[in-house]
Amino acid sequence: MVPRMQTAPLHTPWQPAALPFNESRRVAALRAYDVLDTETEQAYDDFTTLASAVCRVPIALISLVDSERQWFKSKVGLGQATQTPRDVAFCAHAILRPGETMEVPDATHDVRFAGNPLVVGEPHIRFYAGAPLVTPDGLSVGTVCVIDHEPRHLQAQERQGLQSLARQIVTQLELRHSQAALVHDSLTDALTDLWNRRAFNRRLQEEWMRHARNGRPLSLLSLDLDHFKRINDEFGHPAGDAVLAQTAQLLRKSVRLSDLPARVGGEEFAVLLPETDAASAMGVAEKLRRVLVDAAWPHAPVTASIGVSSAAPDRHGDPHVLIAQADQALYAAKQRGRNRAQRFAQCA
Ligand code: GH3
Ligand code: MG
Ligand code: MG
Repeated sequence: MVPRMQTAPLHTPWQPAALPFNESRRVAALRAYDVLDTETEQAYDDFTTLASAVCRVPIALISLVDSERQWFKSKVGLGQATQTPRDVAFCAHAILRPGETMEVPDATHDVRFAGNPLVVGEPHIRFYAGAPLVTPDGLSVGTVCVIDHEPRHLQAQERQGLQSLARQIVTQLELRHSQAALVHDSLTDALTDLWNRRAFNRRLQEEWMRHARNGRPLSLLSLDLDHFKRINDEFGHPAGDAVLAQTAQLLRKSVRLSDLPARVGGEEFAVLLPETDAASAMGVAEKLRRVLVDAAWPHAPVTASIGVSSAAPDRHGDPHVLIAQADQALYAAKQRGRNRAQRFAQCA
């Protein structure tokens, strides 16, 4: 790497770290934790507090080494900085050896760091020790590190303490990952990756509250595939599954990001349309009906019947009335010959 002489012309140069051989996998593993740029959390702050106490230093950090920067999930004694460019990061060096704690007894006597802006200027790093945070797959996503303004060494017990903390931090990150996966699994439908009924009910409740507060309209589509049983009967269950997955894709593609398509039953879908009045909801329903008619299906044409209901703002109402009304309109659409969109008000 070329030393960055141009930004520190009066000082000795420093050496940015090389990239790890598994850099793209490493960054992917870090991003998968979904932790970058999140709020501070006590669980992580406890680790940096412990690191600073165990190693008796003023500064302790959990540094996550992203592709272009290091970002601090937690910090003790560093002031306002939440990140630095990667090319000045000591931790970018430390992650190169996942099995080792990197120690720099005196940065001013280390060619890699002597001219580093973090040594030459604030926070005037002299001593640095960083234990890599190594995932179960062996990828080091960052470090827990301790920093002092004076040159020094780690004692064996301090080094062991730092390494224990590194393992605990990874456990915490893994926990976060599995919790997120559990939440995802409990709220989505595995076949279509749409929201499931539980998630849909939750979001319906939330959108209903919002609508009651801000007085904006709220609409709901209830969509049921026509004669779906025939597809299973004629082409087999896997073919039926493929139709459901394709339907989900078409729904997702055809509605706005703020709309909420869900699979609420076997071949039944619902789409919640926030801030949408009855006339616009009918427009969306008609568009979806046509999207299905026009789609290329592998076996046989697929159509749907769609019931549409809308709510005027009502603080005391029950959002499930919206579902009942959309279902009633859907039933009417089936009665009237299928492959059609039907508004609740027009049912009677
Ligand atoms: P209608 O037009 O009246 O809605 O007729 P339909 O055949 O679509 O409705 P019916 O309720 O008689 O049949 C629904 C079928 O959907 C029956 C069921 O086996 C099938 N089904 C439900 N869940 C799944 C699934 O996950 N995969 C597949 N392949 N089929 C499913
Ligand atoms: Mg059905
Ligand atoms: Mg059906």
